Amino acid sequence: MKVRTRFAPSPTGELHLGNARTAVLNWLFARRHGGAFVLRFEDTDLERQVATAEHGIVRALDWLGLDRDEGPFVGGPHGPYRQSERLEIYGEHANRLLSAGLAFRCYCTTEELEIRRAEARARKGELRYDGRCRDLPREVEERFRGEGRRPSIRFRVDPGPIRYADRIRGELTVHGEEIGDLVILRSDGRPTYNFAVVVDDLLMEITHVIRGAGHLSNTPKQVLFYRALGAEPPEFVHLPSVLAPGGGKLSKRAGATGLRAYEEVGYHPDAVLNYLSLLSWSSPTGDEILSRERLMAEVDLDRLGAANPEIDPAKMRWLSGQHFRRESIERLEVDLAGRLVDRFSLGETELRALTEVLRERILVLSDANDVCELILPEPDLSNSAVREVLEEPHSARVVAAVTERWSALEQWTRETLREALLEVGRDVGIKGRAFYHPVRATLTGAIQGPDLPDIAYILGAERTLERLRRGIAAAGA
Ligand code: GLU
Repeated sequence: MKVRTRFAPSPTGELHLGNARTAVLNWLFARRHGGAFVLRFEDTDLERQVATAEHGIVRALDWLGLDRDEGPFVGGPHGPYRQSERLEIYGEHANRLLSAGLAFRCYCTTEELEIRRAEARARKGELRYDGRCRDLPREVEERFRGEGRRPSIRFRVDPGPIRYADRIRGELTVHGEEIGDLVILRSDGRPTYNFAVVVDDLLMEITHVIRGAGHLSNTPKQVLFYRALGAEPPEFVHLPSVLAPGGGKLSKRAGATGLRAYEEVGYHPDAVLNYLSLLSWSSPTGDEILSRERLMAEVDLDRLGAANPEIDPAKMRWLSGQHFRRESIERLEVDLAGRLVDRFSLGETELRALTEVLRERILVLSDANDVCELILPEPDLSNSAVREVLEEPHSARVVAAVTERWSALEQWTRETLREALLEVGRDVGIKGRAFYHPVRATLTGAIQGPDLPDIAYILGAERTLERLRRGIAAAGA
């Protein structure tokens, strides 16, 4: 059996970490087993449609590297992949159940149902549909139709146990009496969520339904539909809910930020993939920093935990940094170029040097801006912090000694710069802040920042030595 998974968002907004995590596990599981990953848009709930949401979702999946074997924009043998384009298919299947006597036409209007529910609530009775259209005599049906009532189609849910299984929670049972007869096709011809999902998953030959735990209560209803349609249900895996930092539901303010924002800040996409897969799963090796290839080879449905994981922004940033450390210089240079070259008028050598240094420092790409802003503009030596440092008794001597040694270097590399700096420190017999601060203040106009050899390496020999000479003058003045 070929594994087939699907991600089935409603295109009503952006992907956030919670629903992206569902996509990630579906994709990884399909890839691990050489299966297919299908995208499907559940867009029959027309009021809540957001026109650009489809593109936003596809873009976010692309950013995470979750390619689709089938779906909107790529097509495939089980399409169409938008529920709004499949209404006829749902109608046919509902009619099949109707003909088999497994469903019936219900003429109750929304208003009537609401009134009955309100009455039931008032006397603390059952809110479920009372079954009144289950066995309507033909004449009554005709009368209702004559009155202009348009029926919905309801599925008969008989009393008795409904058994279903979830990969994480095991065997579960609910009782038909707790559910009541379910609308599968509304009077306007639109399917209900539970019915459409089953028809689609069945026709799209989905073998594993991996989705959020919020859908657990839908599963027994869906299982009934599978059986009524003469099929065995797929394997269900309900992922524990992702919580906001500190617990609580994900919200716009806490954790539910759209993925686009993570892309803009410049998280490494593989780190987001890595982070999301670790929310309910862990590698048997205990390793946490996992490449895309390793995730594809290792993530499986075993080892999925049942606890609701909390988003940990610090860990996600840390992982992002770790993935940049492992990135190729060439690849990172491309990412940085887009953000830095125009803004800071960078040359080729500068960009390369920056990339080498930043690869070891940044957590997210936008950290690069801070480094550039600190290092690249001509330093202002007149600010009081810098003046104070340069007025120290040994400052002019230190800067002069560093200038001399660095100007004699045959090769301008981070290693040669570092070694030379250590030697000068030993020679002049000045250590710690008294040694480093005047050099740093001279080069950047600040007393904090990246390592001095890194700064000098990025600036290049000419600019570094020029700045140092100006510093000697300023210190001596
Ligand atoms: N469209 C549903 C949602 O966005 C997913 C349905 C499913 O996975 O079964 O929650």
